[in-house]
Amino acid sequence: MNKEIFEKYEPVIGLEIHAQLLTESKAFCGSSTTFGASPNTNTDPVTLAHPGTLPVLNKKVVDFAIMMGLATNCSIRDWNLFARKNYFSQDLPKGYQISQDNTPICYDGHLVIELDDENKKRIGITRIHMEEDSGKSIHDLDIDTLVDFNRAGVPLIEIVSEPDIRSSSEAYLYLSELKQILIYLGINTGNMEEGALRVDANISVRPKSREKFGTRTEVKNLNSFRNVEKAIEYEIKRQIELIESGGEVRQVTMQWDGNKNQTKEMRTKEMSHDYRYFPEPDLPPLIIKEDWVERIRSTMPELPMARKYRFINDYNIPSYDAGVLVFDKAVADFYESAVSELEVKDDNNNKLVSNWVMTEIMRMIQDRDTSVSDLAIKPKHIAEIVDLIASGTISNKIAKDIFEEVESGVSPKKIVEEKGLKQVSDTSLIEDIVKGLINDNPDSVEKFKSGNAKVKGFFVGQVMKGTKGKANPQIVSDIVDKYLQDT
Ligand code: ADP
Ligand code: MG
Repeated sequence: MNKEIFEKYEPVIGLEIHAQLLTESKAFCGSSTTFGASPNTNTDPVTLAHPGTLPVLNKKVVDFAIMMGLATNCSIRDWNLFARKNYFSQDLPKGYQISQDNTPICYDGHLVIELDDENKKRIGITRIHMEEDSGKSIHDLDIDTLVDFNRAGVPLIEIVSEPDIRSSSEAYLYLSELKQILIYLGINTGNMEEGALRVDANISVRPKSREKFGTRTEVKNLNSFRNVEKAIEYEIKRQIELIESGGEVRQVTMQWDGNKNQTKEMRTKEMSHDYRYFPEPDLPPLIIKEDWVERIRSTMPELPMARKYRFINDYNIPSYDAGVLVFDKAVADFYESAVSELEVKDDNNNKLVSNWVMTEIMRMIQDRDTSVSDLAIKPKHIAEIVDLIASGTISNKIAKDIFEEVESGVSPKKIVEEKGLKQVSDTSLIEDIVKGLINDNPDSVEKFKSGNAKVKGFFVGQVMKGTKGKANPQIVSDIVDKYLQDT
């Protein structure tokens, strides 16, 4: 189908995101939430729904939900009910999940995404509610289905967006912003592969001139940002082609097949669950007074977007640099710490630190698949390197040469001192070398005089060689110029 036909349509997307909260114990009992524990060891009578057991709310879950609500400009509800969401599954011991139905703790929020340097867009957040996770059914380890109840009862928040997203790249920006916030708040690991962050995408298309939304499909099982983008692209194309060929989109739940790169139908609207929500009789209404919200507000850390603008203002680095640096909280911390260790604090050095962090440090994290805090090289080492370069003590080349040693945690200052790598800025020494070279190479001098400017490079190269790369290249260049002209 040609491009013009696709351009007649506008995609409409809303995302539902489940985020596991990093509390130590489960939402309604004392069992541990540690990921990766031996199957069925993080359990207890409440998790396993033994008769007569009762849920007790973990206050940390409420703290974390309020935090996320404040971070996404939501109103916080003062009067909350929990509700039972009923369905049958072998991994749901009680036969229901404790969730929230029509009194979500956070509502009417929004997030601002940056489409590019100039354009921002507001994505509405309908609601954020608290709920508990189900257990995990494992179908591929045995001929029977195995069940692990470690995950049952782990606290979640579900963040539901308004249908404000218009493309897969907007979905990506929204998700990436949310994930950064969750990590900055320290309430979620952001790990999609481990299922700590799970995304369902609701997708529809409508002719550009029409206001009414089209029928949507919901795609589940999106365990990476890449898959979210791919699934959205796939659904948009599938729906447009279907409509153009005279068909009709049906409201179905679909599964993303990461091997075949396509969506497949899981269940239709008719087959969809009726969860028979009703208020949870075993938990009293949760009342959140203003002072609770204010207490949480006062402990909120700086959020990634605010940090980005502070980096631009305080350190005078380009917006691009600031965006890259704040993306990973640990990298941003590393950058700030390096800047604070600088002997000479100026814009030039702030930018040099940014360059080293964005290239060498980020390369190391990537290559070693590790976190910046696990590297042997520390912020003060980067600060030392930058100070050494900026003061003319070492050249960029020497800095790159010694970096391998610095990577293993040795102080660059120490390396430079011990190996005598200080850049030679002593003009009389350089002058002596240049004079010697000019005496020894009369042919080259002649060539230069007859207009071959390349000869200068030969002399500069020879001086650098003679000083094992330690001569200050700018000074060498000036002196070579001077002597070649004067000879
Ligand atoms: P449900 O409870 O059945 O999941 P909701 O009304 O809560 O339905 O919507 C779930 C998600 O679907 C929300 O993120 C919302 O923005 C999105 N959504 C609703 N209608 C549409 C539509 N026509 N096209 C795309 N997304 C939609
Ligand atoms: Mg839904």
